[in-house]
Amino acid sequence: MARAAVPGRLTWRVAKLAEARTETPTARTLVLDVPGWPGHLAGQHVDVRLTAEDGYTAQRSYSIAAPADGDRIELTIQAVPEGEVSPYLIDVYGTGDPVEVRGPVGGWFVWRPTSMDPVLLVAGGSGIVPLMAMIRARRAAGSRIPFRLIYSVRTPGDVYYADELRRRARDDAGLDVTYAYTREVPEGWPNPPHRIGVADVNTNGWPPALTPDCYVCGPTGFVEAVADILVALGHDPRRVRTERFGPTGG
Ligand SMILES: Cc1cc2nc3c(=O)[nH]c(=O)nc-3n(C[C@H](O)[C@H](O)[C@H](O)COP(=O)(O)OP(=O)(O)OC[C@H]3O[C@@H](n4cnc5c(N)ncnc54)[C@H](O)[C@@H]3O)c2cc1C
Repeated sequence: MARAAVPGRLTWRVAKLAEARTETPTARTLVLDVPGWPGHLAGQHVDVRLTAEDGYTAQRSYSIAAPADGDRIELTIQAVPEGEVSPYLIDVYGTGDPVEVRGPVGGWFVWRPTSMDPVLLVAGGSGIVPLMAMIRARRAAGSRIPFRLIYSVRTPGDVYYADELRRRARDDAGLDVTYAYTREVPEGWPNPPHRIGVADVNTNGWPPALTPDCYVCGPTGFVEAVADILVALGHDPRRVRTERFGPTGG
């Protein structure tokens, strides 16, 4: 991130929806135009603020799904049933509509293309969002750093960026993608549905001796379980970076 970007990070900016894509029946990607956007690193997030006509405001955090691209940022929102903000951003928020955005936020859960260590990404559900930004940043930088992604989803229909991930796993040398399904597996899948356990991380991750940088993102319980597994397998806790998608209302 450019140094000049830092002073503007906590400024609220008015963004407008440029385009939107449906990822799954319950998730939508928003491409926002944010004039004056200072740039960001893969893994960072923004605060989004909505203001009603009567002045009531609601603010939530959302990870940025793609590397810096001028004034554009991409977010992918999962609908939380009965939620205040996410259903609005998925079902109501339309092209050209304004929303306030502040960021980028976060300096620890980031991957820089200059990094030389292998990378393990472990995503639970919408936790794929900042990890996808890292996969895309790797591609954009032409990096050959070995990346492994373990992506836990409920069912095959819940995979975000499914076509792109298939393409990248085929075309991006050194990127391996493995799925773990918790409720329903694709036809012919070798394993029954299950939550990620030691065997998944051991088989599809990196040995600790290779000193990988590990990034774990998803619901709080998922993140804590996976981080514990990584440490139990011998990974240095300082190399296990976590991002919890807990409620952020305020
Ligand atoms: C750093 C960070 C990055 C995030 N990035 C993303 C992202 O990229 N995509 C995304 O979809 N979400 C992301 N979130 C979660 C997001 O900030 C909101 O919490 C989520 O959209 C729900 O907001 P809501 O207003 O719809 O629900 P609320 O009205 O806040 O909550 C409704 C109900 O759902 C529960 N709830 C709220 N949030 C969650 C949650 N995340 N998981 C399970 N239950 C919840 C609440 O406790 C409450 O009972 C991120 C959170 C953090 C902290």
